[in-house]
Amino acid sequence: MRHDPDVLVIGGGIVGLFCAYFLRRAGSSVTVVERGPVGGPQSCSHGNTGFVGTQGAAPLAEPGVPAQGIRWLLNPESPFHIKPRWDGGLPRWLWHFRRACNERDAEAAFHVLLDLKKRSLEILREVCADDGLASTFTAQGMVLAFKTPEGFDKGCRSVPRAVDNGVPLRVLDPQELRALEPDAEFDISGALYNEEGAYLRVPDFLREFARTLQGMGVEIHGQTEVLGFEVTGREVGLVRTARGDLRPREVVVAAGTWSAERVRELGLGLMLQPAKGYTVTVKTPRNAPRRPVLLSEGKVAIAPLGDRLRLGGTLELSGMDRTVSRRRVEGILRTVQAYLPEMEHTETLETWSGLRPCTPDSLPYIGRAEPYRNLSVACGHGHIGLGLAPAGGRLIAQILAGERPDMDPEPFRVGRYGGWARPFRRRR
Ligand SMILES: Cc1cc2nc3c(=O)[nH]c(=O)nc-3n(C[C@H](O)[C@H](O)[C@H](O)COP(=O)(O)OP(=O)(O)OC[C@H]3O[C@@H](n4cnc5c(N)ncnc54)[C@H](O)[C@@H]3O)c2cc1C
Repeated sequence: MRHDPDVLVIGGGIVGLFCAYFLRRAGSSVTVVERGPVGGPQSCSHGNTGFVGTQGAAPLAEPGVPAQGIRWLLNPESPFHIKPRWDGGLPRWLWHFRRACNERDAEAAFHVLLDLKKRSLEILREVCADDGLASTFTAQGMVLAFKTPEGFDKGCRSVPRAVDNGVPLRVLDPQELRALEPDAEFDISGALYNEEGAYLRVPDFLREFARTLQGMGVEIHGQTEVLGFEVTGREVGLVRTARGDLRPREVVVAAGTWSAERVRELGLGLMLQPAKGYTVTVKTPRNAPRRPVLLSEGKVAIAPLGDRLRLGGTLELSGMDRTVSRRRVEGILRTVQAYLPEMEHTETLETWSGLRPCTPDSLPYIGRAEPYRNLSVACGHGHIGLGLAPAGGRLIAQILAGERPDMDPEPFRVGRYGGWARPFRRRR
């Protein structure tokens, strides 16, 4: 590594890359270190379904979720699972999650997440106007499909709230659905449409965006794990990596779900659980949908990637384990078959699992990690991290520059769950 940067970003997933982008644009010299290859399968940003539109800003914690979750726990193919295991952090996380499952908190989180998503979509439109990135971003609307009449009724009842909040959601009649998706044969009760549906093709976007950043002067080092820190007073003085030590002026921890273990040695406790999800990428069948589709009751997303089609879902609280569960993957495929029974079976090209970095309130941690003077955290973007990372990265850059942020940073405060793994210890 060439020199000590103004800012060292730990983690080369979507969040780390967008922090680097805005920090560099603000004039700092920036280095990103990533444990694996940038855009590699270890990263949660690698193989997900990439939805980045204005749809899906609801937090995971909503009224009714605990009861539904318990019903799902009894079904081995359901989209939700908790693996029984010894993890002191899990009961605490679940307790805070349960507390957040009320109207008031869910509504507040929805507004904050929607605002972050809208700002991020604007940034993505700008960034992806660049030639190299244009082919990795598609904004052609999305369909929300409902299998059951009750599900469709519930979906229709959500339309006025969405519209009141500036989300262009509307009911599709069957002819309109046929016109939008002439190849796909849906077996559903009804559908909604959001013309602001958009998605990123990952991992292509990550690799191309990393090249853009390098062109701007950001140093990016793959295969460079951060191993530890040396602290002097209230400053992180030195960062030890697998490829040498660095003495940056500022450190941003954007290591996804690994951020919690990374900052634990600094005495910081982040309320973060890895929530495993799966995607199956197949050769695109002849009669596949042309735009992104959410199979609403089954919680499965479909992303068309040209000659590939990606099917993703499931949320499993099973620790840092990335093993693929056949039963859950079969559950995803069965859900797709129920909504699109005529869709051909084609060759599977990739089965992937990723760990979403989830906070109990679904709001990311973005901000300074007090009492350290030069440590910040950007993680916990959960189930919609691609849709939140751009505006979150801009917020980090504004905070580090000491500027007045363009949005209120309070909901993302790093210390909002207490913040300490153990009492702050002065070292050296
Ligand atoms: C099945 C599935 C579907 C999803 N679909 C969507 C979707 O449609 N839309 C959406 O917005 N979001 C979606 N998500 C969520 C989204 O993928 C995540 O929120 C997002 O990728 C998190 O990004 P991140 O940069 O925080 O974490 P990551 O992408 O995991 O990046 C963190 C990086 O830090 C690195 N790292 C860790 N420790 C160290 C260390 N010590 N030193 C150096 N590097 C380190 C890791 O290797 C990793 O690459 C989905 C997730 C899954 C699993």
